[in-house]
Amino acid sequence: MRRPHPEPVAGLPERVTIYEVGPRDGLQHESPTLPAPDKAEFVRMLAETGLDTVEVAAFVPADRAERMPQIADAPEVLANLGAAGLGWHRPVLVPDAEGLERALACGVSAVAIPASATESYAQHLLGCSRAESLDRFVAVVARAKGEGAWVRAHLAMCLGDPWEGSVPLSQVVDATRRLLESGCDQISLGDTLGVATTGQVHRLLESLDAAGVGLEALAVHFHDTYGQGLANTLTAIRLGVTCVDASAGGLGGCPYARSATGNLATEDLLWALDGLGVRTGVDLKKLVATSAWLAGRLGRPAPSRVVAALQETV
Ligand code: MG
Repeated sequence: MRRPHPEPVAGLPERVTIYEVGPRDGLQHESPTLPAPDKAEFVRMLAETGLDTVEVAAFVPADRAERMPQIADAPEVLANLGAAGLGWHRPVLVPDAEGLERALACGVSAVAIPASATESYAQHLLGCSRAESLDRFVAVVARAKGEGAWVRAHLAMCLGDPWEGSVPLSQVVDATRRLLESGCDQISLGDTLGVATTGQVHRLLESLDAAGVGLEALAVHFHDTYGQGLANTLTAIRLGVTCVDASAGGLGGCPYARSATGNLATEDLLWALDGLGVRTGVDLKKLVATSAWLAGRLGRPAPSRVVAALQETV
């Protein structure tokens, strides 16, 4: 059986946008380091599966690029992609003003900024306080919007933090509102540790709704460390979220989560959505073939259950 039995249920959106993070978030902690032409080929193959949006690269500071060589070559990846790497549906990560300028110089017109819901993660990721990081993003977002770019924020540690434990909902609501007020078009709520359960997702989305944050401005980014990524994502979709993050093959994870088993696999999400009759525009067979191809380049199997089940059959 190569595709799920379709059994639509009431109350779900007709269509969901998958925001594919494999080439950036997925690859960034993987080894060996792939050459830029292979990364560009990965993005092209993902686009051919029908994925709407693919985050293609990151413009990180030199010291961080040294520690993460996999994402040190954004200009080369974009040069290899040509026009296929540009446009509002090909965002790149820019952690600061300098990264934004380098990205704009390459012609990008969609950017994602890495924000933190907690104090500890802001210090570790961005080297400043949470409040300072949110203040700094105001200028970055204004500059990007001034250039006509689409801007998303990846808001990390919304549902658990490795140093602080539970994260107060009010902190997530506050950061989300401030980022939207800064001009961000979309906020992706991240369970960076992968510790959340469905009740928490329910409460968080309820709290944001009560604070006047519309679901249309939100996406979710759930990790699978404790096997909850798909359940949490489906919970958000049932509540009306229509943009969800996933990583082809289940690549990547969080270096701060012990035994992080990574991002939710796009194939596992797609199996569930295809079964529920929710349209995504993505071809599962092509996607499995893409993840199997990348796994060959990395020299190890893709973590995705669906890839493991299907790759011999495609
Ligand atoms: Mg992730």
